[in-house]
Amino acid sequence: MVANPYDDARTMFDRAADMMNLEQGMREILRTPQRELTVTFPVKLDDGRIEVFTGFRIQHNIVRGPAKGGIRYHPSVDADSIRAYAMLMTWKCATVNIPFGGAKGGVIVNPKQLSRAELERLTRRYTSEISILIGPDRDIPAPDIGTDAQVMAWIMDTYSMHSDHTVPAVVTGKPLNIGGSHGRNEATARGMVAVLREASEALSFQLGGARVAIQGFGNVGANCARMLEEFGAVVVAVSDSAGGLYNPRGLQIADVIAYHDRIGSLAGYPEADPITNAELLELPCDMLIPAAVGAQITMDNVDRIKARIIGEAANGPTTPEADRVLFDRGVFVIPDILANAGGVTVSYFEWVQGLQEFFWTEREVNAQLERVMGAAFQQVLRLAKERHTDMRTAAYLLAVERVASATMTRGIYP
Ligand code: NAD
Repeated sequence: MVANPYDDARTMFDRAADMMNLEQGMREILRTPQRELTVTFPVKLDDGRIEVFTGFRIQHNIVRGPAKGGIRYHPSVDADSIRAYAMLMTWKCATVNIPFGGAKGGVIVNPKQLSRAELERLTRRYTSEISILIGPDRDIPAPDIGTDAQVMAWIMDTYSMHSDHTVPAVVTGKPLNIGGSHGRNEATARGMVAVLREASEALSFQLGGARVAIQGFGNVGANCARMLEEFGAVVVAVSDSAGGLYNPRGLQIADVIAYHDRIGSLAGYPEADPITNAELLELPCDMLIPAAVGAQITMDNVDRIKARIIGEAANGPTTPEADRVLFDRGVFVIPDILANAGGVTVSYFEWVQGLQEFFWTEREVNAQLERVMGAAFQQVLRLAKERHTDMRTAAYLLAVERVASATMTRGIYP
């Protein structure tokens, strides 16, 4: 059976809600998205034909601040996956205690099949369609799978054209020359590495010499590989959607990145053996970093996972049932809502800089990022120990409690 990410997100939430004895009314509020918008819109293709696309923007919760979340361009986008990721954003922002709610958007499209001009027209029209929801004080999109800084620039420009003035804070993950933040590109990986360093200290585990397997060699996966290598870890395997590479003696990451940039894929890299994505997950290693797509560690393969530490760079890479098995086996899982929150944290810094029109150096951004991630890791770890539970449940307990208490403090309108 194919996992439904929305069911999984609700299962994770229910687990925390049960442990907190969350009151029934509050449960209903928090397990359902607040606003959902489906848009169907035409785009003129280069050959003159018109194609109609479907997209979404879903705000799960905006009690703690404006909604925040990425926009995904992918053929697998559907309402339930967007609902799930919107909900995850609420918990993620609350886990690291930044003043945002959660949202997510997406368009059902394979962006690789569009020309640049078609992608621009699709983005501008989708932006117009969702402009009834987004805005710098309302809902602030960011890049996700299939979208990048250029797509954010088009969203910012389209929204600004409709507003008759430039509104940089309507999106984050923008190019630097129009108000992007230093350090945003590497922020998710830097945050991931920051919590892995905290984890290695907490578990008395050496990062230097640790063998790491990383699934996904995009922004997050490749930057994690590079940064972990700098800390002395041995990256034994990496992969992209076409397959992976394995070298038990360690890959030279700068060389793999250069090869990937040159060829556009990892296939054929000479200094390693080819492996499948399924094999990568099951390799003998100390740390496993799923940094590609969801539902990778499931009941089908969990018994063969050998890593001691799993850092969830991707959203929802572990199904709730498999998560239980890992916990029972003593595998230390750093959950997505903590592990990959570095991206949204620097997005928050970008938004603050945009509103203040005062920009920070990369050193300032990185220092603030490490402060936020370190504090969040320690709070989650403390709660996990106090409640004798896993890091994911602890992160949910922390996050749900923050959103529930903000809701009660504000009161139920009217
Ligand atoms: P990306 O598009 O830059 O890279 C994705 C990588 O995964 C590519 O190497 C791609 O080939 C690979 N991939 C795609 N489908 C795959 C499959 N079925 N099996 C194996 N590999 C596959 O994306 P990214 O920005 O690096 O994001 C990676 C993950 O991290 C996503 O789940 C994303 O939601 C999550 N994430 C990203 C950020 C961010 O700031 N970029 C923040 C939080 C979470």
